[in-house]
Amino acid sequence: MRQHLVFQTAFPGDVFLSVPLLRRLRVWDPEADVALACRPGLGEFFLKWKLVDRVIEVDKKSGEGRSRALADLRGSEWDWIICPHESPRTAWWMWRLRATSGKVAFRKWWNGVVFSKRVEKPVEYPDALRQMSLLAPLDKSLAELFAEDDFSRLKSPDSQRSPWKFDVPAVPEWASMQVVPHRPDGRTVFLAPGSVWATKRWVQSGYEGLARLLIARGARVVLVGSRDEAPLCAEIATRVEGVENQAGRTSLSDLVDLLATGVALVCNDSGAMHAAAACGLPTVAVFGPTTLALGFRPWNTRSVVVQRELNCRPCGKHGAEKCPIGTHECMTQISAEDVYAALGDLMRVQA
Ligand code: SF4
Repeated sequence: MRQHLVFQTAFPGDVFLSVPLLRRLRVWDPEADVALACRPGLGEFFLKWKLVDRVIEVDKKSGEGRSRALADLRGSEWDWIICPHESPRTAWWMWRLRATSGKVAFRKWWNGVVFSKRVEKPVEYPDALRQMSLLAPLDKSLAELFAEDDFSRLKSPDSQRSPWKFDVPAVPEWASMQVVPHRPDGRTVFLAPGSVWATKRWVQSGYEGLARLLIARGARVVLVGSRDEAPLCAEIATRVEGVENQAGRTSLSDLVDLLATGVALVCNDSGAMHAAAACGLPTVAVFGPTTLALGFRPWNTRSVVVQRELNCRPCGKHGAEKCPIGTHECMTQISAEDVYAALGDLMRVQA
């Protein structure tokens, strides 16, 4: 039995963006087993939805965890290894694994000795397509899709002229991240106020104001987030009467199941935005220090990005702990009413 490995040990959002690549692997080689190497706690979702047959959890924080994962990976004979994760340490790991057909990664000046196929990273495309492009040298029909004339319409938008845009092209089915059916209950709006990076968080008062606006109009409002984001959500829940709080209480897989029951999500440029794409949940994402052109837009046709046009944007690939110019106006200039209006517009567009 052939076995392919996808090695993706980045943050949860990046692993969700590997879903189209994993779906396509099943199409390209339906007889093979597919394994995913990822951070602890992320694999359950991929097993549950049969995107992969096996998960190898790589605990980067512990020496014992790293040794165990490496031994597990070295114990298998892989056919192809596909490696969206780009760090030198990952390349060092890949160098120590066996792959009978070869190893694929994005081209770096230093990684020619490790990878037999190196792909120029198509930086002008959204990240889900960038990751899929790693399969194009092996999968002729995928390469043909990438070569089609209208493929360029999927490029990441580089314009921020309007506060939000509905003219981004639909995500094609062959590149979709949605694997969980969307079954909205007609009244629940989820809010995900957290982000790993402080500057990527829309202001707390904005989430609180939005929650009040929604509750006043009859919506059920539920906060979601990771365990690290639970204190922020708990504080919002104590300040806004009627808000429910599920932050820190769900696994990644449970979070996607929960989101699938809502009518919409409001979040930052964060992992929650990509979890929503996995269940086709309409999403309003508030962008501050990051921009659409960086490639991490919601990979979800039913989505909208609220942002302000400022010369200082973007100020980093991932955001930062502190605003470099001290104002954080990319976020403070966005009001609860702005986001509420965008949400209303998004709901109308679907109708
Ligand atoms: S420098 Fe500009 S984009 Fe970056 S955090 Fe500050 S206000 Fe936002």
